[in-house]
Amino acid sequence: MTSPLQPVLDRIDAAARATGRPGEVRLLAVSKTQPVAAIRALHQLGQRAFGENYVQEALAKQRELAALGVAADAIEWHLIGPLQSNKAREAAQHFHWVQSLDRDKLVDALSRHRAAAAMPLNVLIQVNVDGEASKSGCAPDAVDALARRVAAAPGLRLRGLMAIPEPSPDPAHRRAAFDRMRTLFDALRTEHEGVDTLSMGMSDDFELAIAHGATMVRIGTALFGARRVSAGTGGPG
Ligand SMILES: *Cc1c(COP(=O)(O)O)cnc(C)c1O
Repeated sequence: MTSPLQPVLDRIDAAARATGRPGEVRLLAVSKTQPVAAIRALHQLGQRAFGENYVQEALAKQRELAALGVAADAIEWHLIGPLQSNKAREAAQHFHWVQSLDRDKLVDALSRHRAAAAMPLNVLIQVNVDGEASKSGCAPDAVDALARRVAAAPGLRLRGLMAIPEPSPDPAHRRAAFDRMRTLFDALRTEHEGVDTLSMGMSDDFELAIAHGATMVRIGTALFGARRVSAGTGGPG
């Protein structure tokens, strides 16, 4: 079987071209619940950025991959799941990006635990763009203050915003959510140097997200097939 990587990259490329932004949309391969063999296979095809939802699962995979000869720094690791404060130390030490920062306490904890000698930790602020009660992410009107705090924190580098819009069968609803994110992102860029990443869009809607300004899409199922076990296992963080 040929890998679905190239077809997904082709679809990303076509969508990026259609918005006049060829080459400007990155793929994050979401490997939660997938075995390390699947990660290694995509890595060997040239994929570098991988996203995990749980800190402990990611650390276990990093150890397994190291045993297979894939060093932790050969892969750019992104944390995309909700982060508990008590996991912030490990997140700061073992990831290159955290996309799920949504409150002050995490800014301080991640900053404190990022080694001074390391490259700064890349940070996206997660926005609860549909105001869903059960979702993580900060309120849209909290982005400004949180962004200023990240920008001022040693060891952290503010790169942009992330959102998981409410799954809706109504494309108009999704478009409106993506557009709200785009507006927040454009405002953030004018305030902060180095902001270049708007992470939104998954297997079901990444082309729509790109049409509405996404610069990074997070794709699991379309790359790896259905997940082995429920993504809800293992607990948050
Ligand atoms: C699981 C997950 C994805 C990928 O979802 P697919 O529908 O499998 O592409 C993207 N982002 C986040 C935050 C996720 O938890």
